[in-house]
Amino acid sequence: MRVKVLGSAAGGGFPQWNCACANCRRMRNGSVRSRPRTQTQLAIAANPEYALRTYWSLINASPDLRSQIAATPELAPFANTDSSSPVRDIYLISADVDSLMGLLHLREFQAFNIYSAPAIKRILSEENSMFRVLGRARPPVQWFSLPFASQVNWKEKLDPAEAPLFIARAVSLGGEYPDYVGEKLRRELPETEAVVGLAFEYQGKHAFVAPTLRGLDSEWKKWVESSDLVLLDGTFWTDDELIRTGRSKKTAREIGHLPLSGPGGLFEQYPRTAKARKILIHINNTNPILDEDSPEHRATLEAGWEIAYDGMEIAL
Ligand SMILES: [Zn+2]
Repeated sequence: MRVKVLGSAAGGGFPQWNCACANCRRMRNGSVRSRPRTQTQLAIAANPEYALRTYWSLINASPDLRSQIAATPELAPFANTDSSSPVRDIYLISADVDSLMGLLHLREFQAFNIYSAPAIKRILSEENSMFRVLGRARPPVQWFSLPFASQVNWKEKLDPAEAPLFIARAVSLGGEYPDYVGEKLRRELPETEAVVGLAFEYQGKHAFVAPTLRGLDSEWKKWVESSDLVLLDGTFWTDDELIRTGRSKKTAREIGHLPLSGPGGLFEQYPRTAKARKILIHINNTNPILDEDSPEHRATLEAGWEIAYDGMEIAL
């Protein structure tokens, strides 16, 4: 399994166009050691059935997707064909604008598959008619329901040569639907489908991806403990980060993100026995870990975490 990080920031990117927090300000004037980041987007290559061509699955369809694809040579159309793209499957984790707005960048009469919870399809098809442009492709874009896993249930680890299938499961992480979803539809949608993590399996290797993690129950820890790679919610360092930086009146937890530090934060809750390579993604522009000279950045690395950046590649 090859994973490419095409974007590693939370909504708004880094720097964010309308933000003058210390990080964004210092990024603009070049006084911070850091990197600009686009909004969270992953691509995974895992397709044994096509030996001659590598097809890619996208996780998220970020608002930056057009430029992210353009910056990634592996995602360019195959040579010697008219319009054949290596982008074949797209996995959506929620109906957040930051998770799916990029579908509109893919509207150029291209057939592909979307995998999501049924609720996400309903939100886009019943209330957001602009997404019907995806139906113009011939054949049209196909939409599939992600299978939900109620508990950790990887297939038995097999000899990699005998277990070639790429399998994706959704893990319900609880949460809320975005504000833009109408009241009536919102009442009909199950809470379990609002935000999911994705558990991927390929040739005996397991990856768990949860860029938005509320951490309200402990099921996620079991997925982490049985994975070889985890990409988890690195949005905020502290619970009151948006309040202190004047960006919002809400805490990290109130908008669905477990903060990294503090009592009950991700670092404290992360299972001690887990052996996975652990990477933080979906990093908000206010987060002090973006400053590579900050004590928070150092503490994160010392705790064994990696901090995702645009262009990062992971081989599993
Ligand atoms: Zn900022």
